[in-house]
Amino acid sequence: MSDYDFDVIVIGAGPGGYVAAIRAAQLGLKTACVESRATLGGTCLNVGCIPSKAMLHASELYDEAASGKLAKLGIKAQVELDLDTMHGQRRDAVKGLTGGIEFLFKKNKVEWLKGHAAFIGKDTIDVAGKSYRARNIVVATGSNVTPLPGVEIDEKVVVSSTGALELAKVPGHLVVIGGGVIGLELGSVWKRLGAKVTVVEFLDQLLPGMDGEVRKEAAKIFKKQGIELKLSTKVTGVTVKGDKASVTVEPAAGGAAETLEADAVLVSIGRRPNTDGLALERAGLTVNKRGQIEVDHDLATAVPGIWAIGDVVPGPMLAHKAEDEGIAVAENIAGLTGIVNHDVIPGVVYTMPEIAGVGLTEEEAKERGEVKVGKFPMLANSRAKTNHEPDGFVKVIADAKTDRVLGVHIIASVAGTMIAQAAQAMEFGATSEDIAYTCHAHPTHSEAIKEAAMAVTGKPIHI
Ligand SMILES: Cc1cc2nc3c(=O)[nH]c(=O)nc-3n(C[C@H](O)[C@H](O)[C@H](O)COP(=O)(O)OP(=O)(O)OC[C@H]3O[C@@H](n4cnc5c(N)ncnc54)[C@H](O)[C@@H]3O)c2cc1C
Repeated sequence: MSDYDFDVIVIGAGPGGYVAAIRAAQLGLKTACVESRATLGGTCLNVGCIPSKAMLHASELYDEAASGKLAKLGIKAQVELDLDTMHGQRRDAVKGLTGGIEFLFKKNKVEWLKGHAAFIGKDTIDVAGKSYRARNIVVATGSNVTPLPGVEIDEKVVVSSTGALELAKVPGHLVVIGGGVIGLELGSVWKRLGAKVTVVEFLDQLLPGMDGEVRKEAAKIFKKQGIELKLSTKVTGVTVKGDKASVTVEPAAGGAAETLEADAVLVSIGRRPNTDGLALERAGLTVNKRGQIEVDHDLATAVPGIWAIGDVVPGPMLAHKAEDEGIAVAENIAGLTGIVNHDVIPGVVYTMPEIAGVGLTEEEAKERGEVKVGKFPMLANSRAKTNHEPDGFVKVIADAKTDRVLGVHIIASVAGTMIAQAAQAMEFGATSEDIAYTCHAHPTHSEAIKEAAMAVTGKPIHI
């Protein structure tokens, strides 16, 4: 009999880990997944993607009714916010989905080892005082909130994204530190529900890493929505007195300080890989300068038999990237060929309008060679115009010589859904002409992608 307890042990049951465990089990491998949280699904299902989208969806509907947008369509309603019920439906969404993963573990015979895992050796871990040996160990421990030095998160007045999802009342003034995806999504939620929201960002634009034109346009749109933006501004301190906070800020380039009085402060300056208490050194593993575990193309670490995926390895910290790596790592362990195309990973900001991008930004593409860019405004898209959603555009960036699509960037109410088409086209190596000559249903927002692709060669129809 084998002296291994499992073929595969996955540490962490986020979208990377639970998907890896299920795929490994589907491939006939005896699999366990360790999770220290009381529920499966990791950051994404418990305190990330899902609860934030539950609040974004509900607050958007509230805003449509409360701000008179529905009245303009002939729908008159007396609107009242019932925040407890809104939080209740968020909790229900989380409960349903995390319970669903537990069901999938049972269905696929993945054993859930409950507790915190720490390495004892390169093929052995400890979970709740018991040791388990496996031929393969997948580290999928994800990430957690990056703290701001000198600022203590109490999850009441000064909150992380987790606390910001659960505020018991709408803050009078919410100061968001960090103009990235999470800050803008959660800032939007509370703005829609009635808070004054100020976003303080150290850089001169929001949404670091996204296409330059998209970042500028996004700033205009958020300002128009009433979110105050303090760009090129750094936070130098936060003091809490009772249930209020004072946030001291000053221009990033130096200058006079200013104090913002707030009822809540959201610290959302990023996330860092989670390797706390894993005792990686006992397995012979190290982390890089950013605290990440380095992996090769196959998602294998430097130690044979140990693999790593998701937020704990380099690359965008996104659930779908983690999931795809989860499938690939399980297939590689099973002797198949698991591949993730890291050049084609879409990113979405679920604000209104949504902001989405895949592939290279225009700046990145231009650094690599000559490009052609086609743009089409949502204002000229019949469906967006009819739905009173004039903000945004689609931009297609193609190689000037081969016409191959290098990047697509979208600001539109349903950009997160539209970007899938662009990702699929790029996965198949499409040219802008391929997209331009693909029949798109009318009237859809997606027709703007076709028109932007036509604009690459200068021939859109509707502008
Ligand atoms: C507010 C918010 C909104 C987000 N929205 C989106 C979105 O809309 N779309 C998107 O793509 N991404 C979003 N993300 C990011 C997304 O949640 C992460 O990229 C994703 O969860 C990473 O998956 P993972 O499997 O690598 O790790 P995680 O989901 O972080 O899961 C890791 C799990 O490992 C467990 N763990 C850690 N160490 C141990 C240990 N030693 N022993 C046992 N268990 C351990 C943790 O408890 C955790 O449950 C959001 C994140 C936040 C915070």
